[in-house]
Amino acid sequence: MAYQVTSLSRLAEQFARLPNVGRKTAQRYAFYVLSQPPEFARAFAEALLDSSGSIKRCSVCQNLSDEPVCSICQNQARDRSIICVVADPRDVIAFERLREYNGLYHVLHGLISPMEGVGPEQLTVKELLSRLTGEVKEVVMATNPTVEGEATAMYLSRLIKPMGLKVSRLAYGLPAGGNLEYADDITLCRALEGRNEM
Ligand SMILES: [Zn+2]
Repeated sequence: MAYQVTSLSRLAEQFARLPNVGRKTAQRYAFYVLSQPPEFARAFAEALLDSSGSIKRCSVCQNLSDEPVCSICQNQARDRSIICVVADPRDVIAFERLREYNGLYHVLHGLISPMEGVGPEQLTVKELLSRLTGEVKEVVMATNPTVEGEATAMYLSRLIKPMGLKVSRLAYGLPAGGNLEYADDITLCRALEGRNEM
């Protein structure tokens, strides 16, 4: 019995380390896992171990990927003339869910934030600029409508426009100060369709 209690609290402690998981929820998860057949925990553990070992960044768009080049960048059916610039891999998932956008992405892995000491050199700006040759005609700034999101879009626009490319920004319809990841699909679709040139 003592063994079971120890493993239960150890498991709950691990769940409690996840974002937005409080003690009670962590305990509920732990109880649930222990109530399942052993295969459940094994599959769960394997997925966890696999993910931390094998997920890398796509060498082109910098999105998370199992392969050196992700499936979106590899897909020849995608429109290579347009790149949608996002802050976070979760934003790619939000756009892909729409099934409306057929271009490529670039993941910055953050936003410029002088308050938090994040400058362009900590983001994948250099990698973005190195992609803007030949086929690319338009770059869509799809960063959140927050102070950091706007500042980052402005900064990149100033670098990219002189290269003779069209730079656009998601239309406002997105709640100001909001998070793109949580926008509903219709709002996100409209924001993309109604994008304005910067
Ligand atoms: Zn990629």
